[in-house]
Amino acid sequence: MEPSWLFWHRRDLRLADNLGLHQLHQHCRCITGLFVLEPALWQAEDAAAARLWFLLRSLEQLQAGWAALGSRLLVLRGDPTLLIPQLVQQLGSSGVAFNEDVEPQVRQRDHELQHRLEQQGVRVQRCWDQLLVPPEQLGTAAGQPYTVYGPYKRRWFGQAKLAPCPAPSQLSAVDPVRLAAVRNRLPLVPSLADGAPWGDRPWAGTGSCPCLPGEQAALQQLEHFSTAALCLYDSQRDIPSLPGTSWLSAALRFGTVGPRTVWQAAEDVRAVCRSDEARHAITVWQQELAWREFYQQALFHFPALAQGPFRRRWRHFPWDNDEQHFAAWCEARTGYPIVDAAMRQLQETGWMHNRCRMIVASFLTKDLICNWRWGEQHFMAHLVDGDLAANNGGWQWSASSGMDPRPLRIFNPVIQARKFDADADYIRRWLPELASCNTADLLSGDIAPIERRGYPSPRVNHREQQQRFKAIYASIQG
Ligand code: FAD
Repeated sequence: MEPSWLFWHRRDLRLADNLGLHQLHQHCRCITGLFVLEPALWQAEDAAAARLWFLLRSLEQLQAGWAALGSRLLVLRGDPTLLIPQLVQQLGSSGVAFNEDVEPQVRQRDHELQHRLEQQGVRVQRCWDQLLVPPEQLGTAAGQPYTVYGPYKRRWFGQAKLAPCPAPSQLSAVDPVRLAAVRNRLPLVPSLADGAPWGDRPWAGTGSCPCLPGEQAALQQLEHFSTAALCLYDSQRDIPSLPGTSWLSAALRFGTVGPRTVWQAAEDVRAVCRSDEARHAITVWQQELAWREFYQQALFHFPALAQGPFRRRWRHFPWDNDEQHFAAWCEARTGYPIVDAAMRQLQETGWMHNRCRMIVASFLTKDLICNWRWGEQHFMAHLVDGDLAANNGGWQWSASSGMDPRPLRIFNPVIQARKFDADADYIRRWLPELASCNTADLLSGDIAPIERRGYPSPRVNHREQQQRFKAIYASIQG
């Protein structure tokens, strides 16, 4: 009888350019797909309804893809370390294949599962898929992991990148009698469309979120971006009112698109573009992909990042941690229009423009002097692309507690608004109650009481808070 294997999808919700699946398909045709819905996905404090939506819709499409290839994607609900050994037994699988992850808890879990499976006599095949350059591949001349983005990026660009690999052409299904036994004995989720295990948890942002779930939509978004905005990326990426970025962050987070496909799309445009400006814009965009990989390799090598600041001195930073300030920040009531517009964008769409993520993160930590970990958790609880490595990296960069060598970076929200939202289009879009105010007032936040229509006056004085923050910062430098 043909040996059958399980392929366990995790952050790779696609069939094409999936290295783990492709490698397995080289020696096995009878493959059953698996995804395990762990309760933390909807029960954890920072579980975001936006991410659950993206995940479930992507899974629905993936299930259809597996069926079209002649096999099945099973979706189970529970703890994978308990369920997978049972499933393997029910299906009589020879092995389990999956792609590696960088998150410390996931790696620990995978290690335990592998041990359990191998004791059962089941083979395990693991592969790096979610990064163009696996984390162990690059190190400094001293053999250490990189802690500074600049030199990492230079080496990263110099590495050969694999071409995208195709989806399996055809698969054979496991014995239907065995599948029926799975249905009777294991917590199989019968339908992703309704009767979901977490009950009714609708999310209002489905129509406004710029990130679209599913493999097909990710490829369409990539194609649209490559032809429309990629060559202008350098000049448009910082203007939050423009559609100047790819909106692929959730697709890369959940793996509805593969990193090799994304890289190749940019290289294909480079091959036909005629201007140096366009070629430069493509490189600038690829540098963002390098940031993504930099933070992932950082988390892989320094798992303690997930627990707190990289820099030791920051562990005892005397934050003000004023809960009313924090609530005002979360609820878009700080009185600084660019900050509040961004927080509204997050509330309503589950996504926020990168420039605005930097502005609001600087504001929370350096103007409101609240612990960056509060902001990190709030972002995780709302972002459709919420990702431990990128979010933690972004917050540590903004708080100046991270690996970055330039230690103190304080954004002035008024200067940021004047520079990147000069006509206040973004502010008007997300704070429509202020739409009739004049542009200069919207940028400065200095709005006459009669025109505020309930919108608050600035909660803190930027200049004063900046001085206070600098004094505290100097004191922890010792
Ligand atoms: P593009 O500009 O088109 O960039 C292409 C891809 O590169 C992105 O999809 C993303 O995968 C990656 N990328 C771009 N910028 C960064 C960056 N600075 N760090 C890491 N990867 C990057 N990104 C997340 O994917 N998940 C998060 O949880 C997250 N949290 C953040 C928190 C803070 C405080 C900050 C400052 C940034 C955070 N970012 C996060 C990075 C960045 O804001 C988003 O990746 C970007 O806005 C996504 O939009 P896009 O897909 O249009 O990006």
